[in-house]
Amino acid sequence: MSVLVFVEGLNGEVKKSSLEAATYGSQVAQQLGTTVTAVAIGEVKEDALARLGEQGISKVLYDGDERLSQFVANAYVKVIAKAVEQENARVLVFSNSNIGAAIGAKLAVRLNGSLATNVTALPKIEGDSFTVTRGVFSGKALADVALTADPKIIAIKKNSIDITSGGGTATVENISAELTDADFSEKPKETVMQETDGVLLPEAAIVVSGGRGMKGPENWHLIEDLAKELGAATACSKPVSDMDWRPHHEHVGQTGITVSPNLYIAIGISGAIQHLAGVNSSKVIVVINKDPEAPFFKAADYGIVGDAFEVVPKLIEAAKAL
Ligand code: FAD
Repeated sequence: MSVLVFVEGLNGEVKKSSLEAATYGSQVAQQLGTTVTAVAIGEVKEDALARLGEQGISKVLYDGDERLSQFVANAYVKVIAKAVEQENARVLVFSNSNIGAAIGAKLAVRLNGSLATNVTALPKIEGDSFTVTRGVFSGKALADVALTADPKIIAIKKNSIDITSGGGTATVENISAELTDADFSEKPKETVMQETDGVLLPEAAIVVSGGRGMKGPENWHLIEDLAKELGAATACSKPVSDMDWRPHHEHVGQTGITVSPNLYIAIGISGAIQHLAGVNSSKVIVVINKDPEAPFFKAADYGIVGDAFEVVPKLIEAAKAL
């Protein structure tokens, strides 16, 4: 009986969100007094998988079938289910990423398990009782959910867990779920990665985001310059992308991307509930708005009441001097 973590790769490396899942899985294994194994699919380098030992993973099962380089839900589910059965896993952990969200329910049905998504903290385990805390209502509230059937499947919210390091090296073994052409009958999901100076928005540690208060696309050099100085990705509110000031892949919120960076800087954004839904799990939120009554200030850790066209150039100068 063990804990199993599903890890995703990006450009040959393990995604940050999967390192969070690996840390979480190791900590659950410690609570249960058992071991933790990972299963990896697609294009991840072997040394990157071995480094999962840093997060306490002892063994990584790897399926390098070339057809898995693009996400195909049924094929991914089959490989992960095979790993769960092989390892007799009682708990399965992965990130609540786009892929995680797409496979969670399918895995729960296939394995007769119980599922909790958007989980934000380690479980409370007392005897047979296993309870996790998950975000609900777009992160506005938390709910405690009892998971009963094994395997207990936990999709953790990005940025909820601090990645630990300091363990050893994981061994890497092949796993084969004997995939057939039928497992690939659905069209693979094409993943298009949009980067800002090499920083991917969903994985970014810092995000600089602009709203309608920026007045027009001709002023976006301020957002881009600040992002460049901070090594951040750029983002925007929905009206900004609707008006084609910025591309749609930068739109964050309820109908856009969800981001969970360490630092989210919102410039000229009012803080509507639909926008907050996509950013409110950021660790630190800084709001720059000329209206002291802007709702975003209620969600902010730090606020600057001021004109973006005066404040942002000063921030860029300050960042250059760092
Ligand atoms: P505004 O509301 O116009 O706010 C502009 C802000 O800039 C104001 O607070 C103003 O004080 C400030 N400002 C103006 N000039 C300056 C200046 N010079 N310096 C500093 N500050 C200045 N929105 C999203 O963002 N993401 C979503 O996913 C999303 N989904 C939605 C889904 C539905 C079903 C609906 C109905 C709406 C959705 N919206 C979404 C829209 C949302 O309700 C808001 O209308 C939107 O977020 C407002 O964008 P904004 O803050 O950029 O613009």
